[in-house]
Amino acid sequence: MTKTASTDLRSDTVTRPDKKMAAAMAEAEVGDDVLDHDPTMRALEEKAAQLLGTAAALWVPSGTMGNLIALSIHLRRGDRFLAPRGAHVLHHELGSAAWLAGGMPEPLDWNAGPGRPTADAVRAHASGDRRYDALHTTLLCLENTHNAAGGAVIPPHEHAQLAAAARDRGLRVHLDGARIWNAATALELPPAALTVGVDTVQACLSKGLGAPVGSVVAGTSDFVAEARRMRKMLGGGVRQGGVLAAAGLVALDRVPALATDHRHAKLLADGLTELGWDITEPQTNIVLAAVPDVRLTLDWLQEIGVLAVPMDGNVRFVTHRDVTERDIKGVLRRISHSTDRPAGIPQAG
Ligand SMILES: *Cc1c(COP(=O)(O)O)cnc(C)c1O
Repeated sequence: MTKTASTDLRSDTVTRPDKKMAAAMAEAEVGDDVLDHDPTMRALEEKAAQLLGTAAALWVPSGTMGNLIALSIHLRRGDRFLAPRGAHVLHHELGSAAWLAGGMPEPLDWNAGPGRPTADAVRAHASGDRRYDALHTTLLCLENTHNAAGGAVIPPHEHAQLAAAARDRGLRVHLDGARIWNAATALELPPAALTVGVDTVQACLSKGLGAPVGSVVAGTSDFVAEARRMRKMLGGGVRQGGVLAAAGLVALDRVPALATDHRHAKLLADGLTELGWDITEPQTNIVLAAVPDVRLTLDWLQEIGVLAVPMDGNVRFVTHRDVTERDIKGVLRRISHSTDRPAGIPQAG
């Protein structure tokens, strides 16, 4: 039997530029983005700002750098910031929110649903005590969709309440919108409807939208001017960045196509549930599976040609534009046909 290629569901970052994107990159009009402002970079930043409903936006090499720049500008050293438990800025950015941005993190429980704190919790944790000898809590960092909660969406009315509670207590609001495009698609709303009341937002181009590199961080023109300085300090000033921005422009046209990834996630989740797996119902393109032994399960999946990753004690599968419905059906077939599954993984039928 020939071994068929694996289906890679580790992340929506594994996509490769297709022909159309590669052609746009090859033909991009470019300049020196540090000396002047690369024209394609400028076009991308204007389009991103318009989609996100902000005055301006800045291309950055990664979402991590976008979040770091925003937190560095919002926080003074020793300030406390609030973020939902399991947030990317807390668990997956190597402590840079503390090490470089100088913030002291305070995780908020998911009292409103998966990945979602309540506005009351924001009020309770933001003392508003401005005495010189008091701990200052100055920022709320939201995440939509919430990765570790399985791509969970914050609905717009809850988002508005959270942002309003923060502002009411004098906090600024940053939105880690790495997958804001997925949230907007799931809610059938424009992305700008999900940035109401925020000061800044970070959004990835290199996840479901399929660009090879890049994110944007967006806010007021003053914020973006400061962010441009900070990006240069961090070594993120690039020269003929238009090559990358061209990919980003193609990517931004692909937001509606995310609905297909969401359909595939549902297909996978329904299939696994039918096989007896313990699955968190997906809202977007992430499927979480609770299994007795994550490591053993991932090794077995790899053996049968299905790549996934661990995520906070679960197995995480992510659908993306380089997997088809056929691939997902193939994954379900491999899982149901395998005879040497680890203990606790249900047998088919
Ligand atoms: C992927 C991700 C980031 C960081 O993006 P990189 O480009 O990988 O640095 C930030 N926040 C969330 C929620 C993410 O999923």
